[in-house]
This record gives sequence, structure tokens and C-alpha cells, in this order.
Amino acid sequence: MGDEQELLKQIRQLKLENSQLRNQLENGGVLGKNTIDGDVNTATATQYPLTLDEYHRYGRQMIVEETGGVEGQIKLKNAKVLVIGAGGLGCPSLPYLAGAGIGTIGIVDNDTIDTSNLHRQILHSTNNVGMLKCESAKKYLNMLNPNVKVITYPVRLDNNNAFDIMKDYDLVLDCTDTPVTRYLISDVAVNLGMTIVSASGVRTEGQLTILNFKNVGPCYRCFYPVPPSPNSVSSCSEGGVIGPCIGLVGVMMAVETIKLLLDAYTLDNWEPFLMQYSGFPKQTLRTFRMRGRKNNCKCCGTNPTINKQMIESNEIDYQEFCGARNYNVCSDNERITVKEFEESYHKIDKKDYILLDVRPPHHYDISHLSYTYNVPVKSLRNMNGSLEQLQEVIPDVNKNSEIVVMCRFGNDSRLATRLLKDEFKINNVKDVAGGFFKYIDDIDQTIPKY
Ligand code: ZN
Repeated sequence: MGDEQELLKQIRQLKLENSQLRNQLENGGVLGKNTIDGDVNTATATQYPLTLDEYHRYGRQMIVEETGGVEGQIKLKNAKVLVIGAGGLGCPSLPYLAGAGIGTIGIVDNDTIDTSNLHRQILHSTNNVGMLKCESAKKYLNMLNPNVKVITYPVRLDNNNAFDIMKDYDLVLDCTDTPVTRYLISDVAVNLGMTIVSASGVRTEGQLTILNFKNVGPCYRCFYPVPPSPNSVSSCSEGGVIGPCIGLVGVMMAVETIKLLLDAYTLDNWEPFLMQYSGFPKQTLRTFRMRGRKNNCKCCGTNPTINKQMIESNEIDYQEFCGARNYNVCSDNERITVKEFEESYHKIDKKDYILLDVRPPHHYDISHLSYTYNVPVKSLRNMNGSLEQLQEVIPDVNKNSEIVVMCRFGNDSRLATRLLKDEFKINNVKDVAGGFFKYIDDIDQTIPKY
């Protein structure tokens, strides 16, 4: 371990010297052009390892003692940082990283911009809806600071590409929103000896931590050896999020990244932590001390069983490990299209059927179809198949009722259809494929989508 640290130190020193030499070569001309009263400025390039633009641009941060001045700036310039996810966390983080002069920034994201992203993903703009998020981010960062090299990866990080992409960077920011990707990033980072700045946010809250600091841990698996139940994971499309709440956490990620690159944390002063931000009801930020590496951790422990070969051969199936929720629980004849729903039920005002909307009430309140019962899928589940309890919210329902079920995207409605048929023993239940939003897209675009 000691030898390894010594080697890392030497490599850093060599990198620094290398960049100083490169700057001397590049800046000889720039400095030479500097004239005072017609005289050539005779200052040597060794005295000024950065370009004049860089002194000007970063001056206000270089004069902050904590940055270590020019030497710190050179560390940032030589750094290569990978941001995985250009969404709610990546967007507020990226401009500060580029603004600070981090030399190379990689961005991994295969998603395109949707209008519903823009309240929190403020790097993107209305003009760029439909554009790849990584490309939109690159465009913005290039305008903010042309000194920064931005490399984009319009792919979803997976077992096959993770090592290839991550190996070229010093540090990684996990700005993703699923446990599947979090475990993958953590495992690969541990195998590559990379530090991770990791955060998450949903609704009004966020969390932030540093994982695998200088390869002494803890890693994501030390914190969460067992993945959370897929039913407890809420993504942004389900749970919603307040823009500035997740934004603040993204900005804090940038602070931690800059601190790491400036060597503010050392092996001596390092203590694992977890910061927790709440936006409501009062804004609070609490920092918890966390336990260090777990000796029995499968990835970073003393006898690790997870290695590159296992990841790349797909021997580790992260989807399966995290138990992705299976929505594929209805047969084709249990489902109808939005068109069939419109023609056979809604438009003709079909009598004696029950239209059941299983979205949460605060979703339902934004927009819904008329003559609808709203019973969230969660409430249905809690009734444990009791028809009496269901009758408390839908008075006319019985085992012979005809029910059509709808939710936002057509996932929860399938689970609800299954519950109604299997647990409540109601036989005539149909799921509307694609849900309320598909209905809006294909049938009635005057209804607000959110
Ligand atoms: Zn671990």
C-alpha cells in the first residue's frame, strides 16, 4: 500500500512537471508578445506556467488560499473527470467543473432532452429539445470555457463499455438515478482505483458522498451490500423532483470534485461521510460520519470476488441483482389500445363499466378523464384483495364488474389489472396499454401532460 501511494505521488509529480514543460513550449510565444512600453517582456515561461487568459480567467479562484494558487490550477488543468449522466445532477455540476478549468471532461448520456427535463436540467434549453443531452452539455461548456476539452459518449454505461470509458479518467461523478448503474460504476471504479463523487436526489431531498477515496473505500457495496427493493425505488418520472433541490446537490458534487483534485482530502484527514440535504420544510444540510471499508465487501474488501473479467463477461448481471420490477404480467387479451378504449368505451359513453385511474392522487389532480375513480395502485395493494374495502372507494364494484384500468405510462395499470383479477377475483378487467399519456398523444392532445 505504502509503495503504491509513493508511486502515485511520483506520477502526479511527473504529470505536473510535464505540464509545466508543455506550457513553456506553448506559452513562449504568448509571453514573448507581451510588451511593456515597446520592450519585450523578458519574464521566462518557467515563471508563468499558465497562459495569460488562464491567469485572467481563474484569478478569482487562484487567489483563494485553499486552491493552492497556480499549482492548484495546474492540477485542475491536468485533471480528467468523467460525469455519468447529464441530467438533474450533471447539469448543475458540469458548468462549475468547466468554469474552474478542469482540463478534460467526459460526459456519458444516451438520453435526449425532453421539455419536462428543463425545470431542473438548466444546462439544456427549449431550443435543444430532442437533442442528445451530452451534446447539448458540450455545446454549453465549450461556450463557457473553450480551454476545456469535452468528450461525449452518447451511450448507456453497461458491462461492456464501462471499463473502456472510465479507464481514461482520474475521477468519476455518479449523476445517475438507478441502483443498477450505481453498482456498475462503483465496481468498475474500485477495479480501476478511481474515486467516485456520488449523489442522488428525489422530491425535495438529496444525498452526497465520496466512494472509494484513493482506493481505501468504502465503496457503494460497502454502503449497500443488498440492493433496495425495486418497489421502493422511485425515479424522477414517478417521484418528481424540485429543480433547485437536486440542483444544490449537483453543485455540491462540483465542490467535492474540485476539493479532491486539489488534494484537500488526504489519506490522513479522510473520513467517510454522507451529506443529506432537505429543502422542505426548513432547508437543512446534515453530515453523517460513515463506517469505512467493509473487510468482507465483495468488491473492495480483503478477498474481493468481483473483477473486470466477471463484469465484462456479464457474469455479474446488475439488472438481475437489483431485481428490476417486472411489469410484464398481463397477456395480450387482457390489454386494449387507447384507440380501442376510445371507440368502445369512452367516446360512446359506454354504460356500467368502471374507469379506474391508479395514479397517485397528486398526479390525478393535475389532469384526468371525467367519470373516473382514482384508487392508487399502492392503496389497491394494501387492501389485500378485500372487495369490501374496494367498495368503500368504488361503491358499485362487484365480482362481475367490467373495469378498465389506466395509469400514467401503462406500467402500474398492468400490476393493478393483475391484482384485481388474481386477488379481488374480478374477471372482466382490461389494462389500457401505454396509459393516460398515450391516450393524450394519440386521442386528445388538449389534455395537459406533466
Ligand atoms: Zn466495498
